Amino acid sequence: MKLTLVRKTRSYLRRYRQAQMVARAIKSRRHPILAHIIPMRRCNLSCTYCNEYDKVSDPVPITEMLHRVDLLAGLGTAIITISGGEPLLHPELDELIRGIRRRGAIATMITNGYLLTPERIQRLNRAGLEHLQISIDNVLPDEVSKKSLKVLDQKLKWLAEFAEFDININSVLGGGMQKPEDAAVITRRALELGFETTVGVIHDPGGQLQPLKDRERAVYDQILSERKPGFWAFAYDNLFHKNLVLGKPNDWQCRAGSRYLYVCEQGLVHYCSQQRGYPAIPLEKYTEVDLEREYSTKKPCAPFCTVSCVHRVAMIDLVREKPREALVRFFPPANPGAHSSLPLGVKILSSVFLPPANGRPQGVTRKLIAGGAMKLFGIK
Ligand code: SF4
Ligand code: SF4
Repeated sequence: MKLTLVRKTRSYLRRYRQAQMVARAIKSRRHPILAHIIPMRRCNLSCTYCNEYDKVSDPVPITEMLHRVDLLAGLGTAIITISGGEPLLHPELDELIRGIRRRGAIATMITNGYLLTPERIQRLNRAGLEHLQISIDNVLPDEVSKKSLKVLDQKLKWLAEFAEFDININSVLGGGMQKPEDAAVITRRALELGFETTVGVIHDPGGQLQPLKDRERAVYDQILSERKPGFWAFAYDNLFHKNLVLGKPNDWQCRAGSRYLYVCEQGLVHYCSQQRGYPAIPLEKYTEVDLEREYSTKKPCAPFCTVSCVHRVAMIDLVREKPREALVRFFPPANPGAHSSLPLGVKILSSVFLPPANGRPQGVTRKLIAGGAMKLFGIK
């Protein structure tokens, strides 16, 4: 009972901080929204499709990681995600989480979950972790991946019981996997335990799309019909996922290197985990000039890119630059030629915040409401 109350209160506070982050990102494009950092390239597993781990490297010293967090905070980074390899192998992970929170950024982590225990989850609570993602590939372990529901289910139960942070379970489809139906089983289990869920499309070693087969597509549709996504997930499905699932290109501007940074274990900034080597500038030397250049750099890999965290960051800039167009693309009409059917909440928000479509000036009442709301989210 006590934990439920603590969890709910913290969850509301996190939502408020996330809303502030989105509002700040919509107001200005001159800071990274999200950075991934790698304190540990080594992993305790060896998924055969993975190009993001090794078996030999040492942890990056905590002083160096905290210095990188300082540099990212200096650039104005809103969310810092600890990734790997397997971050739970890092002996001073909690101190790193504390360092991110001290600098005012939202602290999140991606893990394979194998090393979670009740005691470890409680330490993550105390360190101030705000969001955790686990990707689960199959129901039973096979030669490709051991990230399996059978192995991880006990960890999920412990998370449901002890974690005070938000949890997302990502299932995957594509790549000719033997049992695509597993993704629906994993999603159902995650929903049962009260977690958020996403489904990712497997990419090739360059982060590029492999279209889904009919059986995989049927599972994808099934998952969408069972899941209740929030605003951004719903908009994301409409904007990116529907095309990806059909093997079609997406028309978007990748903001990697500007609004999204991938900082490898050596402290170099890359576009993303799948496009390492570009621009590969040390974080120490990364400045507003680099952020500005990369904001508009065309990435040839963009049309068939499956890197969902960079897609989501780009959605915020689409809202900032072309709010009305963004809403129509997020909530397209059910039939070609029909009017876009915006949900009621979005209609209200856009009527308050956006200038009238007819070009007339905004009325006094709307101006006052918009001003008050902006103050609440700290963007005035
Ligand atoms: S657990 Fe994650 S980092 Fe480790 S090998 Fe598998 S996909 Fe790669
Ligand atoms: S489009 Fe951007 S995020 Fe996607 S693979 Fe290319 S650089 Fe990475």
